[in-house]
Amino acid sequence: MSALAHDPNCLFCKIIAGQIPSKKVYEDAELLAFHDIHPWAPVHFLLIPKVHIPSMSQVQPEHSALLGRMMVLAPQLAAQEGCRPYPQGGFRVMVNTGDDGGQEVHHLHLHVIGGPRPWLKG
Ligand code: 5GP
Ligand code: ZN
Repeated sequence: MSALAHDPNCLFCKIIAGQIPSKKVYEDAELLAFHDIHPWAPVHFLLIPKVHIPSMSQVQPEHSALLGRMMVLAPQLAAQEGCRPYPQGGFRVMVNTGDDGGQEVHHLHLHVIGGPRPWLKG
């Protein structure tokens, strides 16, 4: 587990705490999903663990079940949010990690991006 379960200076920890509003897609005890504020595509939401893990680089074996749950939930939520079925439809899952990975918010998050093209990026 990371040193801090929640980081008071972290934007996504503030969203989890309800201190910053978000358009929720899904919530349970361990996970939260909400719409990206600057969507690239008709469907673009972020799926995050409630525990503050700064990035994929800090992921440990003890996080295996949590990350597994995220990967199982992503396609279910993608379908719920309007991504068309595989193979004509589908979606992209992206985890930007560190500066070279293009990460801007340092709380682990899966981007789930989909819907009919063209998209703004990608
Ligand atoms: P990163 O570049 O770290 O992978 O992605 C961070 C994402 O968070 C960006 O796509 C950005 O649009 C989104 N984002 C940044 N601030 C907010 C916010 O306050 N609310 C929501 N819903 N999304 C945010
Ligand atoms: Zn955080």
